[in-house]
Amino acid sequence: MLIGGGGETGAETADFLAEYGHAITVLEMKSAIVEEMQYVHRMALLERLARNKVEIITGATVRRFVDGGVICERGGGRETLAGFDDVVLAMGAVAYNPLGDALKDKVAEIHVIGDAVKARSAKEANEEASRVAVAV
Ligand SMILES: Cc1cc2nc3c(=O)[nH]c(=O)nc-3n(C[C@H](O)[C@H](O)[C@H](O)COP(=O)(O)OP(=O)(O)OC[C@H]3O[C@@H](n4cnc5c(N)ncnc54)[C@H](O)[C@@H]3O)c2cc1C
Repeated sequence: MLIGGGGETGAETADFLAEYGHAITVLEMKSAIVEEMQYVHRMALLERLARNKVEIITGATVRRFVDGGVICERGGGRETLAGFDDVVLAMGAVAYNPLGDALKDKVAEIHVIGDAVKARSAKEANEEASRVAVAV
């Protein structure tokens, strides 16, 4: 199975599936995976991935999906990685807020918070919720 994206979502998905015996390859465009994870958690996660023989390919940017794999750019060249039964996409999240625009002229006041502003963490969503709660 190929997991596109070695952020927290991709790496934790790899961790979960590898524990159940799946052969996993993680493809990440940066030079390392889960760079932003807290050190202790990151070390434990990397150790489990190594123990479960998860293949980690870094510095490789997915450019196109093809039958059973992807075409990626790595080290200045293009290469095809194929032979995968499944591909999991974990290449980031973006804000989705169609209601914000739809409600703009229908209500007197509107406060948009959390991932509807920008996909981040629950901590940031909670902070914004608290600020809005105090303000109103
Ligand atoms: C795999 C994964 C792991 C994560 N792990 C962490 C973590 O460890 N720590 C951390 O801090 N953050 C983590 N996050 C991020 C965290 O989940 C989000 O930042 C947080 O949930 C944002 O809260 P929110 O209320 O803005 O959005 P959400 O939690 O997405 O809530 C929005 C809700 O609105 C509902 N909704 C959407 N449209 C409509 C509609 N039209 N009508 C009614 N309801 C609607 C949705 O169904 C959803 O229930 C993780 C995210 C993912 C995807």
